[in-house]
Parts: sequence; structure tokens; C-alpha cells
Amino acid sequence: MYATIEYFKNIKDTVFTVFEGMTITFSHFLRRPMTIQYPDRIEKPVQETLPLRYRGILEVDMDICTGCLACERVCPIICIAIGIEMNKETKQRTFSQFDIDICKCMFCGLCAEVCPTGSIRHSQEFEGACTNPAGMVRRFVTETVPLYKPKKGGETDSKMIAKVDIGNKYLDELASPES
Ligand code: SF4
Ligand code: SF4
Repeated sequence: MYATIEYFKNIKDTVFTVFEGMTITFSHFLRRPMTIQYPDRIEKPVQETLPLRYRGILEVDMDICTGCLACERVCPIICIAIGIEMNKETKQRTFSQFDIDICKCMFCGLCAEVCPTGSIRHSQEFEGACTNPAGMVRRFVTETVPLYKPKKGGETDSKMIAKVDIGNKYLDELASPES
């Protein structure tokens, strides 16, 4: 008698469990989809929806880089290589190289944190796949670039003001505990 009761109880539990599972499954027909048809059927690029602090592929604004080398020194896996030369004619120091090996980079953010100008920063870009690892070395010096010297009274050139502001805004965002 006990076995018979147990038998029918198991059938009831099975039917109930299947029904419960299917209820959840069918309820998804009525909900708004949580997935997006990446990358071609989205309202706007995913990059535009990411916060400023998102640690995407590094970018460097050479126009506001002072050549302090703090980022190169702090990188734990030596993926930043900076070259600086002295121009004997102009007596001006210029960059000969500023490379970042994205293949090695672990996106720890240390380099961006120590940068005094916000010149090196994580972008919202994350689509960096390529078939040749050598292609993942980002070279930011393609022509002679002088080292940036912040002006005492602040920038007067509108282009430079905008660049300095972008760097400062990025640094403020990094320092902000809420974001
Ligand atoms: S994010 Fe980290 S690993 Fe990548 S370059 Fe900066 S310090 Fe190096
Ligand atoms: S990117 Fe920033 S930390 Fe690196 S050398 Fe330039 S100013 Fe210094």
C-alpha cells in the first residue's frame, strides 16, 4: 500500500515539476528580451554605453604627455615602451617611441592611475582581436612629438584646453569613489 502511494506521489511530483519548469520557460515568451543582437542590431554601439572608468584598450593623448615615464615604470609586466630623445638643434626633448603591447596588457589600470595629466587612459574600446600578435602593439608616436609642459597660468589655446580638460575629467572619474 505504501509503495502504491509513493508511486502516485512521484507521478504527481514529476508532473508538477515539469509544469513549474515550463511555466518559467513560457513566461519568457511574454517578457522583453534581455539579450541584444550584437553587433549589428543594436540601437547604438556598445562602446557608447560604457562608463568613463571602463577599462578598455589603452589610448594615449601624446599632446598632453609630459614624458614623466611614471606609467612605464609602474607597469608590472613591462608592456609600455617609451623613448625620449634630445633634439640638439632645438634643445627640445621629443618622443621617439610610445608603444603599448595590448597583447601583454592585463588592464590593471595602474598606468592610468599614476599619470599626472590623464594622457594615458583606458578607452571604451574592447574589440581588439587580430590574427597577428605584432598587430596588437599600439604605436602612439608616428612623427616627432615634443614632451608636453603644463603652462603655469593654464592653457590658452582652445585645442589644448579641451585636451587638458578631458585628461582631468578622466582623472577625476578615477578618483571618484561613487563611480
Ligand atoms: S593597464 Fe596595467 S598591464 Fe596594462 S599597460 Fe597599464 S599598467 Fe601595464
Ligand atoms: S602617459 Fe602620463 S604617466 Fe605616461 S609618460 Fe605620459 S604623462 Fe607620464
